Amino acid sequence: MAIAQLSDALIDQIAAGEVVERPASVAKELIENALDAGARRIEIATAAGGKSLLRVTDDGSGIAADELPLAVRRHCTSKLSGGLDAIETLGFRGEALPSIGSVARLTVKSRVAGAAEAFEIAVDGGRSSGPRPAALSRGTVVEVRDLFHAVPARLKFLKSDRAEGAAITEIVRRLAIAFPDVRFELAGPDRTQTVFEAVDGRDSLRRIEAVVGKDFGANAIAIAAEREGVQLDGFAGLPTFHRGNALAQYVYVNGRPVRDRLILSALRGAYADVMARDRHPVAVLFLTIDPALVDVNVHPAKADVRFRDPGLVRGLIVGAIRQAFTAAGLRATTTGAS
Ligand code: ADP
Ligand code: MG
Repeated sequence: MAIAQLSDALIDQIAAGEVVERPASVAKELIENALDAGARRIEIATAAGGKSLLRVTDDGSGIAADELPLAVRRHCTSKLSGGLDAIETLGFRGEALPSIGSVARLTVKSRVAGAAEAFEIAVDGGRSSGPRPAALSRGTVVEVRDLFHAVPARLKFLKSDRAEGAAITEIVRRLAIAFPDVRFELAGPDRTQTVFEAVDGRDSLRRIEAVVGKDFGANAIAIAAEREGVQLDGFAGLPTFHRGNALAQYVYVNGRPVRDRLILSALRGAYADVMARDRHPVAVLFLTIDPALVDVNVHPAKADVRFRDPGLVRGLIVGAIRQAFTAAGLRATTTGAS
């Protein structure tokens, strides 16, 4: 068979398979874009667990009319001017919007500060139309309808509306902890609402308690440690404050929520001698590290990271938490006691 170049639409659909797994991944990409645009208020509306509708409205910088076509074009990004070693934004791959536009009906409506009017671009099955004038006073509204209508095989793998909706809520909760001074409002179809009011950025515990539970602060120890320029901050739940699953473990690398195996396993290790094996600690950990010493470009969804020195990171986490427990008299200095 002859070798043929794939069409752009197919290339985007293939990329979409990695970036967009389910409605929650769309929510993650759109909310991250709003945060990268400096939004202070973000509203998320969903219908059918995000399958039929997912709309993210922000008050961020907006996109200029002449840049709207670029925003939905593959490999176009405003965020990578410093190179891969200096990533300070949540996004940088320029893949999310084109990927979403290749498997759903996407519209992006936006107005930059000072512009006379707003503009809107629409993409369906990879084909875009616009920009055309639209009504919006500021910021950006991204609307995604009928996710995966263009790839029915994918549709079949989605869970119930309820389960997909819960996954979206979880994404909002994880990002909300990282951005306490941003107001998040998530509205579901059945009038269920999750609202995180903006708090003073220095009072991150208030936001953490809004997400994790208001008894968390009273049942956690503050962590602050540093090793060879890597900083660890946050709160480690008391050994008595455990859960039946690991969902309440919130881990951030340079402000990016991750589900990193190394960090989660280090967390487990830190509690190994003070918690039953089938119980899970509650923790919120912020790791601050030179961007050149961590690769966030391991997977398109960016949930995994790779550290140049994994041993250092593991040692920092295990050491800091154990030391905090010991200092609080919660743990004998020898192992085995609890
Ligand atoms: P990336 O975030 O990796 O750059 P995306 O496909 O998610 O790629 O977005 C492409 C570009 O569109 C961004 O680089 C940004 O310039 C612009 N953009 C997307 N969403 C927003 C938004 N909510 N507000 C302002 N600009 C946005
Ligand atoms: Mg993005």
